Amino acid sequence: MAKVTSYGAAQTVTGSCHLVKINSIHILIDCGMFQGDGGSERNYAPFEFDAAKINYLVLTHAHLDHIGRVAKLIKEGFCGEIIATQPTYDIAKIMLLDSAKILKEEYKTLRRKARRRGEEETVFEPLYTEDHVHQLFEKKWHTLEYFEHHKLHQHIRVSLGNAGHIMGSAFVIIDYHEKSEAKRIVFSGDIGSPHRLIIDSADAVDKSDALFIESTYGDRNHKPLRESIDEFKKAVIATLEHDGNVLIPSFALERTQEILWLLREMYEDGELPKCHVYLDSPLAIKATKLYNKYPIHLSDEVEFQSSIGNDPFSFELLETTSKREDSLSINNVKKRAIIIAGSGMCTGGRIMHHLKHRLWNPKNTVIFVGYQVKGTLGRRIIDGEKFVKIYGEEIITGAKIYTINGFSAHADQNDLIEWIRPIKGLKTLCLIHGETEKMQLFATTIKEALNLDAHIMEYGVSITL
Ligand SMILES: [Zn+2]
Repeated sequence: MAKVTSYGAAQTVTGSCHLVKINSIHILIDCGMFQGDGGSERNYAPFEFDAAKINYLVLTHAHLDHIGRVAKLIKEGFCGEIIATQPTYDIAKIMLLDSAKILKEEYKTLRRKARRRGEEETVFEPLYTEDHVHQLFEKKWHTLEYFEHHKLHQHIRVSLGNAGHIMGSAFVIIDYHEKSEAKRIVFSGDIGSPHRLIIDSADAVDKSDALFIESTYGDRNHKPLRESIDEFKKAVIATLEHDGNVLIPSFALERTQEILWLLREMYEDGELPKCHVYLDSPLAIKATKLYNKYPIHLSDEVEFQSSIGNDPFSFELLETTSKREDSLSINNVKKRAIIIAGSGMCTGGRIMHHLKHRLWNPKNTVIFVGYQVKGTLGRRIIDGEKFVKIYGEEIITGAKIYTINGFSAHADQNDLIEWIRPIKGLKTLCLIHGETEKMQLFATTIKEALNLDAHIMEYGVSITL
């Protein structure tokens, strides 16, 4: 008998964490961080399961909302094996080290403020430190190629398929026997839309008894990628031609490399007006190096560029600014700059100082190329707030704002339906990783399109398969 309980990404898009119990074997699928409103308290709350009893932790991909509580899991007693693809292993390391640094800075600031109020003891220690992250990578890891089997127990094996979401991303297939009958559970992880810019589309699943599928965009369809690329190019060209600057709040993983690939293409084709291009994110600079390390995990076109000795993510105009002083000196460039900086949702990082200096100016443009979670500064800007507070200062949102969602690393409603359609033998279909209203709409569409009943997972409530 198998039992599944969601301890995150249940009617929300962050904090992915799903516990699968098959007899005495406990497998945790992802252990991610909660982000957005109320995220912090949820991350600090103890796990509502016994971390020491988990035998295996499978990581679908290296986004923080899927890996951000792994160090905490170890602190709470997990000593099992961690399973992931090789790129996920490498990317997880840079993501978690970066996150530990941010947590430390946040902790120092909060403590300083609390001390002035005489409430120093109310501030929690950081969720994890760089030391915890180093310890995590000394644990037992088992990396898998796509569709390579890994035996967890006499009757249980796990394999990973390409989820087409970011480099190295995977869906998880758990095969087991119940009273000598073969059974299968699939967890989608985050599924990418087909026809992505730099990676291959998700692999198909032929059969499964149960599917736990993400529903981030279960309620809508994206604009076609081609349209989004055109919109992006037009916004960039128009802004530069009017001597404005382009700010691109970007996620360090995948989105940054897609933007670099596109800008490189524009440059090669002579479409990019004279400008300075800055990749102003130490994390994105490191991530881009990893993308160059695994061309085999990228699309044929990118792999080809790499094979003939071209760097697919660089071109003559591009400057990478790892050091803080180099980042600050970008403020001296008054016109015709394209600045790619994190964080993608404007919750911190170098994009904050660029927004502070440039958001007010109607000549400038901010292009959002990723999902903005409720409660983030990015969401407030795209929702049209007239003024936003940055580093304690009220800034008017005078710049032109573009939201280009066709780059999304997530499949849209149609893509998800088409990914589910070929799966034979589905008896249980559960929705995870989505906001409640979107999940309800998605469940209705699934019923109409596939005649399947979808169950919306609730936090902490188990489902028996
Ligand atoms: Zn993701």
